[in-house]
Amino acid sequence: MSKQISLAEIEQQEKIAAQVRDLNLKSGKQKTACVVTYGCQQNENDSERLKGMLVEMGYTLTEDRENANVILFNTCAVRDNAEQKLKGNVGALKFLKSKRKKDVIIGVCGCMAQQPKVAKMLSEKFKHIDMIFGTHSVYRFPEILKQALKKRVKDVVESDGVIAENIPVSRDDKHKAWVSVMYGCNNFCTYCIVPYVRGRERSRSVEAVLNEVKELAKAGYKEITLLGQNVNSYGKDLEGKPDFAYLLEKVNEIDGIERIRFATSHPKDISDRLISAMAQCEKVCHQLHLPFQSGSNKVLSDMNRCYTREKYLEIIKKLREKMPDIALTSDVIVGFPTETNEDFEETVKLVEEVGFDGLFTFIYSKRDGTKAALMDPVLTDDEIKKNFERLLEVQNVHSKKSNEKFVGKTVEILVDGPSKNDPDTMSGRTEGNKVVNFKGGKELTGKLIKVKITDAKTWSLDGELT
Ligand code: SAM
Ligand code: SF4
Repeated sequence: MSKQISLAEIEQQEKIAAQVRDLNLKSGKQKTACVVTYGCQQNENDSERLKGMLVEMGYTLTEDRENANVILFNTCAVRDNAEQKLKGNVGALKFLKSKRKKDVIIGVCGCMAQQPKVAKMLSEKFKHIDMIFGTHSVYRFPEILKQALKKRVKDVVESDGVIAENIPVSRDDKHKAWVSVMYGCNNFCTYCIVPYVRGRERSRSVEAVLNEVKELAKAGYKEITLLGQNVNSYGKDLEGKPDFAYLLEKVNEIDGIERIRFATSHPKDISDRLISAMAQCEKVCHQLHLPFQSGSNKVLSDMNRCYTREKYLEIIKKLREKMPDIALTSDVIVGFPTETNEDFEETVKLVEEVGFDGLFTFIYSKRDGTKAALMDPVLTDDEIKKNFERLLEVQNVHSKKSNEKFVGKTVEILVDGPSKNDPDTMSGRTEGNKVVNFKGGKELTGKLIKVKITDAKTWSLDGELT
């Protein structure tokens, strides 16, 4: 059973946060904390809560890892490369802690830490880690950090998951915000670790979600992304079973919010009602991330995805009938153990047929504890790599083509701020979530403006102010 954390428990954490703040004040020095996030938007959203609690505890947030008093890694377990990166980054801090900054507090939390075996390995191999805690313990961070100031803490609880409201949040962006509507996953796709580290599906109440969005609108936020591993099954566990389409309609009514997005959707749960709600709610962006994972029915069945390629293509058709301008992106896995070269060709065909605006392409990564980890691979690593590269080439052609359609058109963008690659250029996003770079002043940040598209690249568009 998942657990709703009571207000009393949250207030207890607030008290502990105040005690840590007093300790920090008494030290006479402004303490700083650095949070490093790996993985998905859900992790980013958790990190914003961890940062909110750190601020409550009197820390100033910093990007300067080497000089921070607290360094916290919020980890991802979805693929092996994120785990290896974490180990490299944590290992590199051993010298810092033993020689230069003995009192630094180093923490590892999130999906990697939620796995008891991995938590044990981290604790044994990296003695310089002071706190290890899993996804279900995030709301108790003040208590964990207070303990870690005295001795090492490992806090990994087995649970179907918790829902904790009223945790302070420190958001990275001032115009766009993520709002979790549900946590966990019940789908158990055979390759995926998420259900094991995030617990069972549990929805926040409609009221809690709407209150958070209203607060964000009051604070000047313009764009909201509603988050969940499978938002289409929102509400199944709530009284009266409000569905995700209903939630979208209610969020759409909130004054001040201009754009609504959501992620992620599972094809098996996309309803006609949701497609209609997307088309009718004027603030809901005509943009959808709908992972298909494989174009082969045999592989889809082995993945336990519960839909066929025909069903997926039918959904795409319905979406385009209702919203001809919809931007579509997807996730795909190359090299699932039972995938043959013929199965892979089915994936290529599906990508060609749909013509996605963008594709997140992953090489299958074996995750201990999942069903697929017990399946023997059919293809060699070299064959998988070749297939992967070919799929990237196929998609690049489509990405460029879908961008070229915009050249000469005037589009509305929400300005994010200076571009990460070139601080003299400003960057924003279209309704379809395409990046547009243009020359303009920093004062445009957070505004919805019109730009004329002058050039199309594979990953972005160039534009000019109209
Ligand atoms: N809940 C979302 C869904 O089902 O679409 C996605 C969650 S997962 C964090 C994001 C993506 O990672 C998945 O869509 C899948 O393509 C990829 N992924 C998950 N497990 C993987 C694995 N073992 N190896 C490679 N890619 C994986
Ligand atoms: Fe993982 Fe499948 Fe759940 Fe997505 S729906 S989080 S891929 S198990």
